[in-house]
Amino acid sequence: MRVDSIKTIAVLGAGTMGHGIAELAALAGYNVNLYDIKDEFVQKGLQHIKWSLDKLVEKGRLGASQAQSAVEKISTFTNVEHTVKNADFVIEAAPENLKLKHELFAAIEKTAPKHAVLATNTSSLPITDIAKAIKDPERVVGMHYFNPPMLMPLIEVVRGQQTSDETVEVTVELSKKLGKTPVVCRKDTRGFITSAVFEGFVGEPMWIASRERTSFKSIDAVMKYKEGFPMGPFELADLTGLDIGYNVRREAGFLNPPVLEEKVKANQLGRKTKKGFYDYNAAGVDYGPDDAKDFDPLPIYAMMANIGARLVEQGVAPPVDIDLAMQLGGGFPKGPITKADEIGLDKILRALDDLKAKYKDDRYDAPKILREMVSMGKLGVKSGEGFYNYGKEAKEYKAIRIEIEKEAKIAWLILNRPGRLNAINNDTRLELPRALQGLYENPDVRVIIIRGAGDRAFSVGADITEFGGEIRPHLVVELGEFFSTPQKCPKPVIAAIDGFALGGGLELALACDFRIATRRSELGQPEIHLGLIPGGGGTQRLTRLIGLSRAKELVMLGERISAERALELGLVDQIVENENFEQGIRAFALKLAGGPPVAIRLAKQIMNAGAEAPLEAALLMEREAFGILFSTEDMMEGVNSFLMKKKPEFKGR
Ligand code: NAD
Repeated sequence: MRVDSIKTIAVLGAGTMGHGIAELAALAGYNVNLYDIKDEFVQKGLQHIKWSLDKLVEKGRLGASQAQSAVEKISTFTNVEHTVKNADFVIEAAPENLKLKHELFAAIEKTAPKHAVLATNTSSLPITDIAKAIKDPERVVGMHYFNPPMLMPLIEVVRGQQTSDETVEVTVELSKKLGKTPVVCRKDTRGFITSAVFEGFVGEPMWIASRERTSFKSIDAVMKYKEGFPMGPFELADLTGLDIGYNVRREAGFLNPPVLEEKVKANQLGRKTKKGFYDYNAAGVDYGPDDAKDFDPLPIYAMMANIGARLVEQGVAPPVDIDLAMQLGGGFPKGPITKADEIGLDKILRALDDLKAKYKDDRYDAPKILREMVSMGKLGVKSGEGFYNYGKEAKEYKAIRIEIEKEAKIAWLILNRPGRLNAINNDTRLELPRALQGLYENPDVRVIIIRGAGDRAFSVGADITEFGGEIRPHLVVELGEFFSTPQKCPKPVIAAIDGFALGGGLELALACDFRIATRRSELGQPEIHLGLIPGGGGTQRLTRLIGLSRAKELVMLGERISAERALELGLVDQIVENENFEQGIRAFALKLAGGPPVAIRLAKQIMNAGAEAPLEAALLMEREAFGILFSTEDMMEGVNSFLMKKKPEFKGR
């Protein structure tokens, strides 16, 4: 089945998650059949949806008629057969109980069309176990949303042992149609990616508090105020409900940390019982920045790295997906693998070995992959390679990430703030020029590709909130300089656009030598809606690229245009299909990287400079450059290879 043939989505369970999933699907234009066991429950779900849509209208994020038509898309049911009989895609969001889910899936299978994908929103049950209830387990997949589904950008798509490729693909594509970023969990492992890593974030602090008697408040405060997590692990555990993690561990045959045992035995389960680690009848969550002391978070990072490395080793997901999942699903400031590379893999391994020696606890056993990497000298950022490849000039970047393909001589410079649609903040402003300079000096790099992390945006422009809510005059000047850096970099720079390239994001792309976009991308200069004009070269580079009146239309109307329209205008040079994004960009970059580096650099420089100069002067520049190239080894190689009918190997000399 193709994603385009999905018209009707059935959602079973209209509770916390189900109603949010139904709302999301209706807003994306699907017919939604919403089910619950009693009419009272399903009506309550519908009321929640209406309330949430009204809020969106109030805030101006949705038109009243859009909200109305979303509501009209939803039909309510209390009969499973009627709910699923015309459904192309079924999402189960019933209570977390295997027996109940088995009964429900068996009932669904009886009536749902044969082509329908059967997805479950379970957060902890193996997909393979749930699929046992039905005859055709190839159709069953995990589609793990985050609470609240309307706001959280991630969906974990989980492959059961027998899930077919087609089922995974359709679920990935549907997630994108719902406006979410899917990350595929390629094996049906306990806790998938996110809950597995969360076990390090929440479980490890509980062991520390049990064994070391470190105050849980100082752990929360350090993780929130020093390390930048949205909340501390104990605050998070209280919010989720202390029994949840407790039961998951117990059912999996693992020990629970004593501090948690105590709480659960006393029925202090967190916010829902008004008492957990914090007392919600009294001061509630009462830690502050002053409590952020007397705790070194290394064991928490070591445990998360341990879990992440094991997921990589088992082929559950590559590092980049694990990092993305935790940034989007957990609001982590950095992915656990990136963080491990920054701390140093040798230091992580030592921490794990020390903990194992001290507590004789198998949870600290480091996976083989980590030991091998350390023994090979792959220690992370400091050695130039860890789980990611950094190149020796890598710095501790916060807002960007660099990946170098040494053999191919290509570098990927990734705008790495996926949770903020890669908006440009002060860190980006400072780091990107430094990174470009490093890549310019790196002999292993001939072509630089700038792209956004995730698949929703290249970049949506300057993150005004990060600049203190206002742009001061000196920042205007500095930002202007920032936007010129790709143009000034002597090596060719490609903007690889997948998703939104808006405002400053588009301006950054305009300063690159080439722009290649996926078909789903949208581009625009929306500044006019704020009473502004583009300030990073948008009015000028755009004009030079697509002509005065077309540029004026984009700037003065501030409308977004599709990738296809951008191609017609000459704003992008090439469109690649969504699923071929990386391959398409890479193919183009490889061609450039195989060319003579000195000639390509000179071409870039004199074509950029010549476009601003009178023709006679520009022609003179060209002749000079042409003359210089005559004395290069690369020219000899090019001419000889041409005569000998072989592929030239340019050295950049
Ligand atoms: P919930 O209790 O809020 O909602 C469950 C709904 O299912 C209720 O409305 C209930 O009446 C209904 N229900 C009961 N028996 C049913 C049956 N036999 N068939 C269909 N519906 C039935 O629970 P929730 O938090 O929405 O969780 C639903 C699922 O989503 C669980 O598997 C949970 O693990 C998973 N999940 C929850 C969260 C979260 O943060 N709450 C996040 C991700 C995934």
